[in-house]
Amino acid sequence: MKKVLITGGAGFLGSHLCDRFIKEGYHVIAMDNLITGDLKNIEHLMPLEQFEFYHHDVSKFIHIPGELDYILHFASPASPIDYLKIPIPTLKVGSLGTHNCLGLALAKNARMLIASTSEVYGDPLVHPQNEDYWGNVNPVGPRGVYDEAKRFQEAMTMAYHTFHGVETRIVRIFNTYGPRMRLNDGRALPAFIGQALRGEDITVFGDGSQTRSFCYVDDLVEGIYRLLLSDYAQPVNIGNPDEISILDFAKEIITLTGTDQKIVLKDLPKDDPKQRKPDISRAKEILDWEPKISREEGLKVTYEYFKNLPKEDLYKYAYPREFKQNQA
Ligand code: UDP
Repeated sequence: MKKVLITGGAGFLGSHLCDRFIKEGYHVIAMDNLITGDLKNIEHLMPLEQFEFYHHDVSKFIHIPGELDYILHFASPASPIDYLKIPIPTLKVGSLGTHNCLGLALAKNARMLIASTSEVYGDPLVHPQNEDYWGNVNPVGPRGVYDEAKRFQEAMTMAYHTFHGVETRIVRIFNTYGPRMRLNDGRALPAFIGQALRGEDITVFGDGSQTRSFCYVDDLVEGIYRLLLSDYAQPVNIGNPDEISILDFAKEIITLTGTDQKIVLKDLPKDDPKQRKPDISRAKEILDWEPKISREEGLKVTYEYFKNLPKEDLYKYAYPREFKQNQA
């Protein structure tokens, strides 16, 4: 049985990856420090013999006994509010955490896939974004702690690949949604659905003309699975090219939820990218991959998930308080 370590395994994407690798017959070790991850996302896997959970911060030395075939490094805060609240852990997990994972991959002769992001393109001057574009990132802006950590992560991964010969894969993930997103993490989709469920105004930032392209989580997981098993070491965009303005997206959520709340415009956060859409030609060519699930279909499933959460979760603050003291 092949063994895979998934860092950030209790998070949104990490937990869906755990499900997929269990389904494919792997032994899965999920590792998470639970800053933004939640054990609820993996509690259904806990009774399985082929599943283990390690409560550990990957920014510190990682010890895994025995052999390891694959490492998927998905540990990281991943929303603009996270970056403001826990900037230093965000920087550390992308840099020190990646270094520890790469060292582990080298020691175990394991193949490693890192979760990079469309944020490496910053506020892009090229549209749609292809992998050859180097990006337009403000290193000292509010998103800098995430964007630069992820850019450093890619550089470090390439260095281990070329210098040490470690087998590495780099996925650049565009906006992804689905069940198990954190309700109050500030992201557009959970924000809008949460507001609809609580009977609050829907807050659109700026004039809502900025665009995003939303990918359903199952499509993303399929792309990542294919990339891991491929022999391609250069970065690959995985995302859904179906682009929409945030204002139209808010209207779609209003229709989906049937809320009679109105849209209110709020200030646009600093360095909020104006346009984002993946060029997925490379994924099509190398992985024979493209998304299959439409926004209409994916949003229905996602809304069901949020609707069925316990009512008190709708009002829960997204982080445990002790985190503030634990930042550095
Ligand atoms: N956004 C918004 N209202 C909210 C939360 C987010 O209008 O309550 C906007 C945000 O400014 C951005 C877009 O929605 O332009 C997507 O935000 P998200 O945080 O989901 O992703 P990211 O900006 O990292 O792509």
